[in-house]
Amino acid sequence: MDVDVIIIGAGISGLTTAAMLVDVGLSVMVLEAAPRAGGRVKSLRDQGDRHLADLGPSWVWPPFQPIVADWLERLGLETHNQFENGEAIIEMGGRQTIRRALPGQHGIRRIVGGPSAIIDALLDRIPDYAIVPNSPVQRITKIADGFEIGTEEANITASRLVVATPLRVALEIDWRPNLPKTLTDPMRTTPTWMAAQAKAVAVYETPFWREDGLSGRIASQIGPLGEAHDLSPESGKPAALFGFVGWPAEMREDEDVLHEEILYQFARCFGEDAEDTTHFAVEDWAKNPFICTEIDREETPRHPELTPNILREPHFDGRMVFSVAEIGTNSPGLIEGAFDAAQTAAAHIIEAFALDAEH
Ligand SMILES: Cc1cc2nc3c(=O)[nH]c(=O)nc-3n(C[C@H](O)[C@H](O)[C@H](O)COP(=O)(O)OP(=O)(O)OC[C@H]3O[C@@H](n4cnc5c(N)ncnc54)[C@H](O)[C@@H]3O)c2cc1C
Repeated sequence: MDVDVIIIGAGISGLTTAAMLVDVGLSVMVLEAAPRAGGRVKSLRDQGDRHLADLGPSWVWPPFQPIVADWLERLGLETHNQFENGEAIIEMGGRQTIRRALPGQHGIRRIVGGPSAIIDALLDRIPDYAIVPNSPVQRITKIADGFEIGTEEANITASRLVVATPLRVALEIDWRPNLPKTLTDPMRTTPTWMAAQAKAVAVYETPFWREDGLSGRIASQIGPLGEAHDLSPESGKPAALFGFVGWPAEMREDEDVLHEEILYQFARCFGEDAEDTTHFAVEDWAKNPFICTEIDREETPRHPELTPNILREPHFDGRMVFSVAEIGTNSPGLIEGAFDAAQTAAAHIIEAFALDAEH
């Protein structure tokens, strides 16, 4: 076999599993479709590669998420407050706008450096050569004592496999033999959290809205952003706002119109200064085929629920496990769910190698 374990996908789940396996001395190879690690975690960066704002997740809730709290400590990462002081702008139908304080979210925290700091800290624990970007896995073939994994460039063998991609995306890989229906059914019905979302971020010299007694929050029935929040770090520099685009994927095709409408909404809510961005970006996750499938684009988003146990169990004689946020039992779909799933996956694989060693 080329390596002990192949891991498909370099998001938080895949990288955490990899780091845990490396820790016990197993050889791993992480095959990642994208040119970068991180999956749904992504930063908007300046020309010097400095993190400016999150294009994927931003929040964790450590008081309610013990696994996140534990991993942040293990990785040496700090959190800070989500700025929520001041009034929100509430845009009602009929263009009526009101200013009102909204209740803050108990326990909500932001990671210093953004969730990308988790990715960087995990990458530090895995040898560089073990991460292979630009390698979409096309084929998974069960062979005696393991798997042969096919990318466009190579066939690699491993005695164990961790599938750390969104479950619906994993169904698009050519499995030989086919996966049983008992597995494909729950894979297909598990939505990938936020897969069809688009997130807009606007970066500024200063958090000017704060001076006007505003929290940076918007709740809007008009859009294009359904909600927006302050995304600045504790220091307020670089200052940023972010919002979730409420328009469905098919309405987001004309990016120029979308960008213009978002900036117009920020200006409508916070004044003309909002048009004076230093950086602006919209990350449309629905356009990423390694995160979002057609089913995700077409169905109404549902909040993640606890998935069936079969998705957390090992398959192919205990040689293959999934590791992705949606199968976590704690906060499925969220960062907590990703760490949770990774711990379960790593424990199965480590136990399987320990049993091999006994025989
Ligand atoms: C806009 C947005 C906002 C969010 N906000 C929050 C938040 O505030 N708090 C929170 O806790 N969570 C939030 N989430 C969810 C959080 O991002 C996810 O829970 C977490 O990042 C999932 O990590 P993962 O490793 O399980 O999966 P992913 O990050 O989806 O990683 C899967 C990886 O597999 C790769 N891949 C797929 N197919 C293949 C293939 N065939 N071959 C090789 N590689 C492949 C993908 O490219 C990807 O890198 C948000 C997500 C989004 C998109």
